[in-house]
Formats: sequence, structure tokens, C-alpha cells
Amino acid sequence: MKKEFLPSKICKTCNLKFVWRKKWRNNWKTVLYCSKKCSNKKNPRPIKSD
Ligand SMILES: [Zn+2]
Repeated sequence: MKKEFLPSKICKTCNLKFVWRKKWRNNWKTVLYCSKKCSNKKNPRPIKSD
């Protein structure tokens, strides 16, 4: 039996748990959303950089 452990996170938008995917292997630390859809749904935060 092969036991695989994949890291998981909670999506900031839909609050669902999602697991690590290969496409994120290089930026897993910065992944906050389960999908592009959720990523686009995020509330725009006005960043003041004056
Ligand atoms: Zn999501």
C-alpha cells in the first residue's frame, strides 16, 4: 500500500480544502485559492502605494 501525503490548504474564497498539485510545485507557498475562478473572485483590496 502506497501512502501518499499531499499538503493541503483552505481556499480563501470558497473555504474548501484543496490539495497540492504539480502545477503548484514551484509556488505552493503563495497559492491561496483552489482555482483560477476563486482567484478572480477575491475581493480587490485597494493598495495604497503612495
Ligand atoms: Zn476556492
